[in-house]
Amino acid sequence: MLKDFNCELRICSSSICSTRVISIRICSIYFVLMFWAVCFHNNLTAQQTPKRQVSDLKITTLSTMLADRGHGEWGYSALVEVGQKKILFDTGRYPETVLNNAQRLGIDLSEVEDVVLSHNHGDHTGGVLYLREHLKSINPTAISRIHVGKGIFTKRVGRPHSMQVLKDSLEADGVEFKIYDSVQEIFPGVWLTGNVPRKYDEKNYNPNSKLETKQGEVVDIVAEDMSLFINTTKGIVLLSGCGHSGIINTMALIQSRFKEKKITTAIGGFHLLRASDEQLKWTANQLKLFGLQQMNGAHCTGINSLVQLRDLMKGSRQNYVVGSVGDLFTLEQGIRPGAIAR
Ligand SMILES: [Zn+2]
Ligand SMILES: [Zn+2]
Repeated sequence: MLKDFNCELRICSSSICSTRVISIRICSIYFVLMFWAVCFHNNLTAQQTPKRQVSDLKITTLSTMLADRGHGEWGYSALVEVGQKKILFDTGRYPETVLNNAQRLGIDLSEVEDVVLSHNHGDHTGGVLYLREHLKSINPTAISRIHVGKGIFTKRVGRPHSMQVLKDSLEADGVEFKIYDSVQEIFPGVWLTGNVPRKYDEKNYNPNSKLETKQGEVVDIVAEDMSLFINTTKGIVLLSGCGHSGIINTMALIQSRFKEKKITTAIGGFHLLRASDEQLKWTANQLKLFGLQQMNGAHCTGINSLVQLRDLMKGSRQNYVVGSVGDLFTLEQGIRPGAIAR
């Protein structure tokens, strides 16, 4: 009798157990199906909205150290033309340099409404107020939108709060500031990186420069430093101001969003002027993995560093060029350097 009871209990217990197993299995199948449906939907959405590609691109250097046309200065600025759309990337150091150099090169900047300021340093922001003041009489919407990275308005220790002063006076004149903390497409095929995660240890900033925060003084890693990049029919073209985030960190961020594309062209300042031989070797190896084919290393890239990179990349004088004022890059012809850098 006792034996039969035990047996019943076992049967009953095992039937409860099987019911539970079946319920868990049904739940698992439901979650797997739901997960698959979400993934399929996202994949479908991504397929339905392919990333837009640019086939008509021109980039002209308007401020850097080396110049055989116009004036050289410690600073950086370049005009980006995507079809009819003109975007000014950085504005040089001295107020009048970019406007004067543009006039010298026969370029009309009055149609430029959008300006990207890569970071807070004066050698990239120095011309913005002067440009707005001189161009708004020709076109009231000239220099009317300014795109910046999050963190640009943080107060720096021992330095005047010049970005806040600049913002206040431009906003009083009707200029709009747009702030980015992550990758974003600002015009079809034209993107900003926003804040760049510092995945690799590329310390391209002054460790003695400090920020004023609620937690006290912290090292200023120039968190707002952002680059512009264009998704073209010939790969990604990267435009950098001072490269404080690091060229490899910046490329790693871009490739996390554009896995299928090579980053074929790098233009601007990459802050390699003090890089050691070891660092340049590591940088060149990484650049090869991203598929880099040509580079216009201006401003803080450093002349010797650019030449060393050219050797490490097995590049030529035609595709690894020291940047100078008036350099032109087009998708069809690549980099056309000034006479001094040929
Ligand atoms: Zn800088
Ligand atoms: Zn700089």
